[in-house]
Formats: sequence, structure tokens, C-alpha cells
Amino acid sequence: MKHTFESVWSNSLKIIKDNISLQSFKTWFEPIKPVELKDNVLTIQVPSQFFYEWLEEHYVSLLRKTIKRELGNDARLEYRIVVENSSNGNAPSTVNIPNYNTGNNKNPEGSMPLNLNKNIKNPFIIPGLKKVNIDSQLNPIYNFDSFVEGDCNRLGRSAGFAVSQKPGGTAFNPLVVYGGVGLGKTHLAQAIGNEVKNKFPNKTVLYVSSEKFTNQFIDSLKNNAVNDFIHFYQLVDVLIVDDIQFFANKDRTQDIFFHIFNHLHQNGKQLILTSDRPPRDLEGMEERLLSRFKWGLSADLQVPDFETRIAILEKKMYADGIELPRDVVEFVAYNINTNIRELEGALISLLAQASLNKKEIDIDLAKKIIKNFVKSISREVSIDYIQKVVCEYFSIQNDKLKEKTRKRSVVQARQLSMFLSKMYTKNSLKVIGKYFGGRDHSTVIHSCQAVQNLMDTDDIFKDNVSDIQKKIQMSIG
Ligand code: ADP
Ligand code: MG
Repeated sequence: MKHTFESVWSNSLKIIKDNISLQSFKTWFEPIKPVELKDNVLTIQVPSQFFYEWLEEHYVSLLRKTIKRELGNDARLEYRIVVENSSNGNAPSTVNIPNYNTGNNKNPEGSMPLNLNKNIKNPFIIPGLKKVNIDSQLNPIYNFDSFVEGDCNRLGRSAGFAVSQKPGGTAFNPLVVYGGVGLGKTHLAQAIGNEVKNKFPNKTVLYVSSEKFTNQFIDSLKNNAVNDFIHFYQLVDVLIVDDIQFFANKDRTQDIFFHIFNHLHQNGKQLILTSDRPPRDLEGMEERLLSRFKWGLSADLQVPDFETRIAILEKKMYADGIELPRDVVEFVAYNINTNIRELEGALISLLAQASLNKKEIDIDLAKKIIKNFVKSISREVSIDYIQKVVCEYFSIQNDKLKEKTRKRSVVQARQLSMFLSKMYTKNSLKVIGKYFGGRDHSTVIHSCQAVQNLMDTDDIFKDNVSDIQKKIQMSIG
């Protein structure tokens, strides 16, 4: 049988697809192009170095096995990486990588040469600066051990951990961690820093908020010490800048940060940035800086799901030596679904109240306290309400959800209403089924699955769902 690179690859994809999640498949395998098959070596083209490293780290054995199955035991896989050639505006070119090597792009003639002989003022005010003396400004409680992993943060956590094992030596440079307030950006960024300090005690790690960076810079302008400021930052091996959205519209600070960024990056130093929104949505930022942010990896942190919230609460309780009844933990995790900072806040006020009143924490006390904590806690949404919102959104008559209609638009609205009922109410699958014309629990399960699949594949549908969720959440408070 004659193989072509196309047929080998399309057969391989079928196998791969069965072995990983749809989301991973779409992210990591759909963008791959097969380009050549010669002497039993299959060459596939990947969009970036980062992509290549990710495949090698996560899917290498699956890839190898699959290719061998198609081409026999002596089959080999080679990558071709598309390289952006932005400096001279050429079309992207490619390089082949049979043997990967993370050679740092050494450029000793950086735009701002490092002058170690000078007596550099440390904006963190540590006199007699020597490289190793720079205090990292890290809080040791923010480490990987105390960071609970879940679907909400998996990419960021694993990229962050990879960075900490090889700072400056992965394609995740810069690593940009973004997400809403209280979702763990600072924790994760500092965990990376702390892990680097553990593993490489001689590396200089520095954590700074972009606000502090800005203020230091302004001070240095006033004191005629801008060069010291720049030199100081160029001494760092791992620079963590928290909340870079704060740089918006601060042109001179951005300019100086741009130079520091370039110098560090060119010298193989690691940059870790956090932001409250994805880089593409940062307004008031210079284009050249934004384009730098896109060099590495941007990973988002999302609101943790119910199970992860429980795990986080349990971790905190364990760390503080507290025990709470399971139903109390579930109650808190269920009702506080905004962010992790609030989850911790709820736990703390629970403990405070209990010790104040010298009472055991039971579910009644929890209800009372959490109710104050989240004003609208008692207003749980009903299935009726969810049905109403969904039907209004899709302009469908309410009754249709209970009928046997198989019209696509109705089926979708019905499935989505079931999905949201599962998400926002505490009703069992059986009860939910009842509300939809007496369907059984397996239909509800199937519906939830169908909605999940559709959200993974259809962006418009996903947007619709998040519109509807916003409406429902508004009514919860
Ligand atoms: P952000 O910087 O995104 O606003 P933080 O990093 O300050 O959020 O996190 C808020 C609180 O939640 C911190 O106390 C942090 O330790 C905790 N936290 C965040 N993510 C996790 C996690 N995955 N596991 C355990 N605790 C977390
Ligand atoms: Mg923060």
C-alpha cells in the first residue's frame, strides 16, 4: 500500500482524536500541516516554537505511537516550525528541527549594555547592591504546593511550572497570565518565582507590581537616576511584573519597560507578566510592547468550578488546621462562585463569627453568615426562570420546551435550559427532567453533554450561552 503524507496524517489524526479531549485536539492538532513523507520520516509543520515544545512535552508518546502504527517501527517524526520574520517584513519562513535545542538568542550587544562596574542604586533601597543581594520581594506562602490545580488554571499552571524548571529556556517567554480579579494571577506568578528561588538559589528573581515599577521610574526621573534604574532591572534573571494593565497610557514607563524587556529577553532571561485582560484587549499600550507580549504564551485563569472550589477550601482549612463539616464546605463552595479571594473571605468570616459566638460551625450558622456575605444568596434561580430567560433569548414559546418537537432551534433551547438548570439550581437530574415534559435523567445528561460539545465547537453558540448566563447571574445578584 502506498502512503502519502496526507493519508498518513489524516489516519493518525483519527486515532489521536479518540485519545484526547476535543478542546486539546482543536488547539494542538488541527493547526498542524503535514508537509512531507520521505524515507519513512513524516514531517509536520507547526505554527511556532512554543507549539512544538508543547507537543513534545505533552503528546510525544501519543504521536510516536500513532505514527509507528501507520508507518511501522522505524518511522520517525520531524517538525517544521514556521518562523515569523517580522524585522524585515518577509513572509514567514520555516526551520526544520530534527534535534531540538533551546539555544537562547544571545545578543550581548543589547540596546542597553549592562555596566556591572558602576555603583548602581537599587530602587528597592538595599544598600551595597550585589547581584545575589537583590531581595526577590516574594511572599513564600504563594507557592505551587498551595496552588490548587483545576480545569480553570491548568494551562497557566503547567506553563508556569515549566518556566520555573527552566527559566528563560522555554518558549513561554514572556509568560503572560491573565484573568479577572481574585483568580490567582499573583499567586501563580509568585509561585513561579519561589520555585525558581528554590531550584536555582543563585538566580536573581524580582517581583514587582507595575504600579511600583512606575513609581520607581518616576522617582528615578526626579533624582536623575534613570540609568541606575535601568541597570538595576537588567541585573535580574527572572522578572515578574504584576498587573501590567496599570501601564496603560503611561508612555514613558512603557518606553523604559520596553527596553528592559528587550534586554532581558535577548539575554535569555525570563519575563512573567500578569494582566487583568488578554494582551489583545489592553488599551493604551504601545503596539511594539503588545507585540512583545505575544512572543511567548498567554494563559488565562478562569473561575474555578464547584469541585475545584471545594478543593481550594479544603486546602486552606488544612493549612490553617481547621475542620468543617462537609455540608458546610459544599454550601460555601456552591454559593461563592465569583472568585477565590471571596471564597477565602467567606471562610474567614465564618471562622471569625464562630469563634466570636463560641459556636460550632454548622450548616445553619453557615447559611446565616454566607447570606450576609453575599447579599442575594437566598435567591436561588428556579428552573422556570431559566426556561423563561432562554426562551426569551431565542424567541421561542415556553411550552415548546416541554413538547416533543425536534426542531433544531427548540432542541437547542431545551438542551441549554437543562444544562443551565443543572448548573444554577440544586435540583436532581430527575427533577430537571420533569420540568421538561417528563423526560428522564439520561436525557438530561445527554443534553448537558451536547451543550458542552457545542460550546467547544461553536463560538457563536458559546457567546449566546455566556449572554444568557450573564442574565441569569444578574438576577442572582
Ligand atoms: P489575583 O492576583 O488574580 O487578583 P490572587 O493571586 O491575589 O488573585 O488570589 C487571590 C487569593 O486566592 C489568594 O489568597 C490566593 O492564594 C488564592 N488563590 C488563587 N488561586 C488559587 C488556587 N488555584 N489555589 C489556592 N488558592 C488560590
Ligand atoms: Mg493580583
